Amino acid sequence: MSLLVVGTVAFDAIETPFGKTDKIVGGAATYIGLSASKFYDKINLVSVVGEDFPKDAINMMHNHNVNTEGLQIKENEKTFFWSGRYHNDMNSRDTLDTQLNVLESFNPVVPSSYQNCECLMLGNLMPSIQQKVLDQLQKRPKLIVLDTMNFWMDNFMDDLMIALKNVDVLTINDEEARQLSGEYSLVKAAKKILSFGPKFLIIKKGEHGALLFNEKEVFFAPALPLEEVFDPTGAGDTFAGGFVGYLCATKDYSFENMKRAVIIGSAMASFCVEKFGTERMNGLDMQEVNDRISQFVDLVQFDIQLV
Ligand code: AMP
Repeated sequence: MSLLVVGTVAFDAIETPFGKTDKIVGGAATYIGLSASKFYDKINLVSVVGEDFPKDAINMMHNHNVNTEGLQIKENEKTFFWSGRYHNDMNSRDTLDTQLNVLESFNPVVPSSYQNCECLMLGNLMPSIQQKVLDQLQKRPKLIVLDTMNFWMDNFMDDLMIALKNVDVLTINDEEARQLSGEYSLVKAAKKILSFGPKFLIIKKGEHGALLFNEKEVFFAPALPLEEVFDPTGAGDTFAGGFVGYLCATKDYSFENMKRAVIIGSAMASFCVEKFGTERMNGLDMQEVNDRISQFVDLVQFDIQLV
């Protein structure tokens, strides 16, 4: 059994109030893999890069138990490139540039050794490519999670709606939930989005935490108040990686266990933002992860006597 991860493997150029990077390694699937690897050791990647993508970064994935048999490397082509600038609040950002490059003609191929996966994480990517991966699976995974963003809603809404019919969990941020549903209230937005197909919806609210919905219940996880936030890039993907990695390891897909997974995802995301790019996630050890999860437990625990 394994966790199949699909998503971008990319170069990013990031500007925050604290500094600026040239092209550094990023991508949704990169962050998902690094984060999930803390909980699950059989991660299979499907993605594409150009010949400009560094071997060191592929080795970094191998060092985190990420199998790259399904990572296509295209000769004479360029890796997907994204550039963004964060506002002073570090919660919102503008996309400055998205160059699809290798993604434009990407035809994902799921290697036969990747079949029979326990969970499928459809990380942020063109919705039709997410669907093509799903279509190649001989057996439906126990859990299918899809992450997406406004870029795909703006340009490929019809394809996204098709993919949404087949997934168990959708993860998006608050702005995207409003865009997808046309509703301002997040409770109304959740109701509408759940009618599109997913059984669970996670709405990420950056430094204001995350909400988990199903048809009847709602759960809220705070974000850890951090002294220093350097770069929020990849926080959403890191959240998704922790969430799905934990669920895949525990094999319990109930709402109760998803609450725990949301806390795990939030704890992982809190590391990601502490340094630029993948630096913090790459160097993270399990003791630090466990300590931080305990901090979350302390943060939300209180006694109350009702009068
Ligand atoms: P996050 O901050 O979690 O939304 O993820 C940021 C990562 O997503 C960056 O490393 C980018 O390379 C990647 N990314 C940016 N735009 C897109 C897009 N349109 N599709 C897929 N991945 C993207």
